[in-house]
Amino acid sequence: MPPSTPPILPSILGVTHHQFVAACAERGIGSGRAMAAYRAFYLEGDASGVPEGFEGWIPPIVRRLEEEVSEGTTIKFCQRLDRQTGTPLSNRAADGVALGVLNNDGRVRHLDIESVIIPMIGRTGRKTHTLCVSSQVGCAMGCGFCETAQMGLIRSLTPAEIAAQWWAARWIEGVEIDNIVFMGMGEPLDNTDAVLQAIGCLTDHHGPRVAMSCVTISTVGRVDGLRRLSEQIQTPGWKRLGIALSVNAPNDSVRDRLMPVNRRWDMGELQSVMQRIVEVRGARKILFEYVLIPGVNDSMDHAGQLADWMAPFGKRDGKAPVGLLNVIPYNPRRDSPWPAPDENDVAAFVARMNELGVYTKRRRTKGRTAMAACGQLGTAEIRGRRFIGSPGTEPAGAKNGSDD
Ligand code: SF4
Repeated sequence: MPPSTPPILPSILGVTHHQFVAACAERGIGSGRAMAAYRAFYLEGDASGVPEGFEGWIPPIVRRLEEEVSEGTTIKFCQRLDRQTGTPLSNRAADGVALGVLNNDGRVRHLDIESVIIPMIGRTGRKTHTLCVSSQVGCAMGCGFCETAQMGLIRSLTPAEIAAQWWAARWIEGVEIDNIVFMGMGEPLDNTDAVLQAIGCLTDHHGPRVAMSCVTISTVGRVDGLRRLSEQIQTPGWKRLGIALSVNAPNDSVRDRLMPVNRRWDMGELQSVMQRIVEVRGARKILFEYVLIPGVNDSMDHAGQLADWMAPFGKRDGKAPVGLLNVIPYNPRRDSPWPAPDENDVAAFVARMNELGVYTKRRRTKGRTAMAACGQLGTAEIRGRRFIGSPGTEPAGAKNGSDD
């Protein structure tokens, strides 16, 4: 069942085939023609049959970076959102959506969104590709270890703009996408309606056909959004949606410092809502992510506290644990106050967690030099610039200060 929020129509992007056929019918376009257009657009990258008025605009790729890793090539690409270059600012703002940011000289700078294609080799030796998508331009959550946080939130993406990242990866970069993770710019549960709508499209079996079990929402732990997810995954077809939670701290005092969201919902509340999600989803695994930062959250004491917090997600009654801990060595952001951790310290932390009964793995760092690794998405040029939009359209937490 698709989520309740209406999509932004007319566009072929970011909608399910049911929604597209229904919207076409309202304009007198038959279901046969609508279905053929939908399938050709997603399955062959052919937009020629899309009925007039429903064209999906794919923001152009304006920058791309590649890095060779042992599994293949990591590709980071940036799409530029504003197609109306040259339109007076008053008109740009009239559609109620921020389209750009102002430079010091008052000229418009463009909004770019970033995505990363990450090659992986599965246990069977098969090569797969994971697409890391952005759900917002910038982010309001302010995590201390994150590059994107430096931008503040400029605006949330529409379902079409989220789906356009998949389209660009598949049909411009030419890569078959097996998995999608919402781990790029933005907090997906700060834009829940659009993210769920986009997932409805991305998993459509006449469209991108990504399996629901291969889509993962990675969140900082907005408890309101997690409650909403616990309802969504009870609707048919959604139970297998992947969920990853960025824990990143062994206790509230460290987490308050690293992740301001913890001051709103502490680790006790977070643990409760995650237990509720486990009740609803049964044995399906949940990924807990832990960015390991030297001198901040990497001591053996911290490992003990973290193992206690994770106990409800461990082995119970002889059943396999639902919680998997993924330790991510910190990738220093620009102007970072902390260095990357020492390899031996990473190995010691991982070993200690396993000794304490928490199934723990270390995530290999890919894309570090391309600034495409976790927590490093963010466009330095537009950090801290001024938001443009209709008065009152600034999303909560949007940066609207003076030019730097
Ligand atoms: S880690 Fe995620 S939620 Fe936190 S500031 Fe960065 S993008 Fe936002």
